[in-house]
Amino acid sequence: MGFTVEQECPQCGAPVELDETDRLLSCPYCEVRSFLFAKDYFRLVLPHNAPGKDLIYAPYLRLKGALYYCQGMKVQHRILDITNAGTQLKGIPFSLGIRQQCPKIKFITPETRGSFLKFTLDQDKILARAGRFSTSDAIREQLYHRAFIGETFSLIYFPMYVKNNQLFNALEKKPIAKLDEGRNPLELAVRHPKWKLDFLATLCPQCGWDLKGEKDSVVLTCSNCNTAWSAAEGKLVKVNIRSVPDKGGNTLNLPFWKIPATAECADIVINSFADFIRKTGHASTRAIPREWENEELNFWIPAFKIHPKVFLAMSYRITFAFHAERTREMIPENNVYPVTLPRREAIESLKIVFANAIKDQYKKEIYPLLPKITFEPKVSTLVYLPFTETSMEMIQQQSRINFFKAHLKIGRTL
Ligand SMILES: [Zn+2]
Ligand SMILES: [Zn+2]
Repeated sequence: MGFTVEQECPQCGAPVELDETDRLLSCPYCEVRSFLFAKDYFRLVLPHNAPGKDLIYAPYLRLKGALYYCQGMKVQHRILDITNAGTQLKGIPFSLGIRQQCPKIKFITPETRGSFLKFTLDQDKILARAGRFSTSDAIREQLYHRAFIGETFSLIYFPMYVKNNQLFNALEKKPIAKLDEGRNPLELAVRHPKWKLDFLATLCPQCGWDLKGEKDSVVLTCSNCNTAWSAAEGKLVKVNIRSVPDKGGNTLNLPFWKIPATAECADIVINSFADFIRKTGHASTRAIPREWENEELNFWIPAFKIHPKVFLAMSYRITFAFHAERTREMIPENNVYPVTLPRREAIESLKIVFANAIKDQYKKEIYPLLPKITFEPKVSTLVYLPFTETSMEMIQQQSRINFFKAHLKIGRTL
């Protein structure tokens, strides 16, 4: 479950409701669409019921996504959906438990009144805590790698005020904590925050056409000049696109990030697809064709949100199956599934996808090297692969690789 965000249309001022993971604001009144963009974090505030009070806002880190970890001799995963206090102020609730009737939140603008406490939480520590096992046996197992593939990474500010040396929850007007003698929470406040939300017009930078996308899309496409665009540092940046032709029938084209990468450290070098086959232990069953030695390693990572289990399985199988597949430079005209996982997040997953591809008998040798291995990504491409949609399954048309269709729907709510 998540938060609902209320935001005014930057064009006509009408109130529009969004899911917290949505990045595209479509105004139902003026029909103008805007891509939302924030420099570091998306910053939002909970509403309050204390007009006239001097409000103090405490930051909570909102994390939603999948945590993958390579511990012992296994790659495991866990879905995270947490909201943890990120301030040095003592006594406030550790977590912002989402209530049944969750109030609508709003983006912080320069007009939002109040003082904002500094965000001082170590993300790594939160992830470490979230990935910990409950059994004491498992804790002793070595952790080789951890990756958080997140969709939501925002700060939610909780409103409070001070009365009679006590902190009050400004939403429910209930006391939260007694303040330490002589301690003013405003000492922890950010001076002159200049946070703002940027809106990007969804017009094709190349031809001016209206870009296509859904509300959770992170890449928008232009059907006029056949280009794709993602938001980076406040502007739309062109994305390389390719596709594999479909074979007819009930087709849905799913996007994948094709990411060429190499890894070099003192103990291991992966410079080609052949190296990848050898290091993952897949060379024992067959001889490696000579051309694989010169073929670069491309990771194929789903560019859409999907259950972690399917994410791992698809990355692994498509990376093997499509290493030499021919593609063409165009976006399929119809039945295109939206890109909901940014390239940045796909890159975060490379090491875990590699670890997951390693055969059991090779893990002992390779897993201890994981902390030292870094995959250097090169220029990536978004490739659409055709899948046949049946009543239950999605079947990739060239490779016959399949997964349960229900995972697509679940993935969108992650
Ligand atoms: Zn509007
Ligand atoms: Zn265009």
